[in-house]
Amino acid sequence: MNDIVLIGPQGSGKGTQSDLLAQKLGIPHISLGTLFRTEVKNGTDIGKKIQGYISRGDIVPSDIAADVLTQRLTATDARGGVVLDGYPRTLDQADMLENILAPLGRRLTRAIYLNVPDEEAILRLEGRRVCTNTACEKNYHLKYAPPAVADVCDKCGSPLKQRDDDKPDLIKHRLSIYHTETVPLIELYRGLGVLQEINAHRNIDEVHADIVKAVGLG
Ligand SMILES: [Zn+2]
Repeated sequence: MNDIVLIGPQGSGKGTQSDLLAQKLGIPHISLGTLFRTEVKNGTDIGKKIQGYISRGDIVPSDIAADVLTQRLTATDARGGVVLDGYPRTLDQADMLENILAPLGRRLTRAIYLNVPDEEAILRLEGRRVCTNTACEKNYHLKYAPPAVADVCDKCGSPLKQRDDDKPDLIKHRLSIYHTETVPLIELYRGLGVLQEINAHRNIDEVHADIVKAVGLG
């Protein structure tokens, strides 16, 4: 049984690394944002509530997040554990996760902290581009995954854009919130002896190899 969380700032490669680790372990990769979007897309009761908060620019309340997570963590394919991508991010969320896992006889077995310097996270985020075609939304990076023709989507030919929250001022704001919220969480997990800190300022394969070691494989 492996219930693992990957912690790190935006731009640390959390999504990519969660995916690789989940594949390696043969367990689901769970991102709360993706779960929310799926509920909204499927038009479920909970999805309608979530849509309301998102459209007003509000944060989805933690009791709704807990319901969505509980549902996902108790699904058949998640019984052998999951890789949680960027959740929990705060001490409150860590409590909530514990309250969800404990009745299932589970606990967080590893917290993998992807450490990258802010300057590197900023560079990675500033270079991101996304296809403007909402049916496509393919992601690019000016340096790491550029399109064949500048500013044009390889897949559908639509123009690319930078997301509003990937603009420099907002990136700095997001990183400062991240540091305030997440440092206490990292210290909590360090105290519980489940934290593994990984230098994520390297290429994808090197970071993945270290994560695999940190969870006791390889
Ligand atoms: Zn496209």
